[in-house]
Amino acid sequence: ARSDRPPLVTARLQDALEACRGHRTGEVADDVPQLADADPELFGVALATLDGHVHEVGDSRRPFTVQSLSKPFAYALALADRGADEVAAHVGVEPSGEAYDAISLEAGTDRPRNPMINAGALATTSLVRAGDAAERSERLRDLLSRLAGHELVVDEEAAAAELASGRRNRALAHLLSAHGMLGVDDPEEAVAAYARQCAVLVDARDLAVVGATLAAGGVHPSTGERVLEVDVVRQVLAVMLTCGMYDAAGDWAATVGMPAKSGICGGLLAVAPAEVGLAAWSPRLDPHGRSVRGLEAVRRLSGGLDLHALHVR
Ligand code: GLU
Repeated sequence: ARSDRPPLVTARLQDALEACRGHRTGEVADDVPQLADADPELFGVALATLDGHVHEVGDSRRPFTVQSLSKPFAYALALADRGADEVAAHVGVEPSGEAYDAISLEAGTDRPRNPMINAGALATTSLVRAGDAAERSERLRDLLSRLAGHELVVDEEAAAAELASGRRNRALAHLLSAHGMLGVDDPEEAVAAYARQCAVLVDARDLAVVGATLAAGGVHPSTGERVLEVDVVRQVLAVMLTCGMYDAAGDWAATVGMPAKSGICGGLLAVAPAEVGLAAWSPRLDPHGRSVRGLEAVRRLSGGLDLHALHVR
């Protein structure tokens, strides 16, 4: 860690929590009952260091479905399974400037623009090597578990609800299939696997540890397991930095400067490479589908703990 890093990290997290608790704007996602039923007042923040320590405050142990926070990890699995060139033939790495669920493909290539929007996530999920949708989502659950350092489980009701309501994702998968952008013949398999991967249960503490594993180049800080290769982690973090915050990624890169990913669960994962994993969770969302309090807390902590990736001084 940088030598001038202030001590008492937990106190800094508590300060950020208290400073952001008053934010009551935004709406809880209503896509599925498991999201709609979340208590909007819940708020947790956690920071995991590379020596295996986790600082946490507030509701950091309350489980929620991972949703879009699964996208970087489907991308990582696809890269590990298929290699960068094959993945790049199916999904780009450019910020889209569009909403996460936009029905659009890149002009000229017909690829989804990046793996952090739904179109790209359906493509990367379909590229994970597996015999069927169940094995595909199981591999994602297993990867997230190893990154977090303990066994995570799927909320089966949330998975079923997501699959039943996911008409837009179904439309996207069929569009991708028509353009040859899926790694499976049946677009429904991609939809089913994606719905289930979105329903893996995590908490803010888990996400912080997952972030620390990425910060450590793919080696879990406590278990010592090499979960992902360095080149995969670098690619995933680069795409998180440029595309992870949906259509406000540019502002995020400039002002916060941390590779990050949000989800409509209200979770936010941010990484300071070679430093820490940082996570925040609170269910009310801004119009982009990102946690209002989570954004503000991570923004404050990036500044206060000097976590901007481009630390010009
Ligand atoms: N399950 C959601 C969807 O695919 C995830 C979106 C998100 O978290 O941003 O629509």
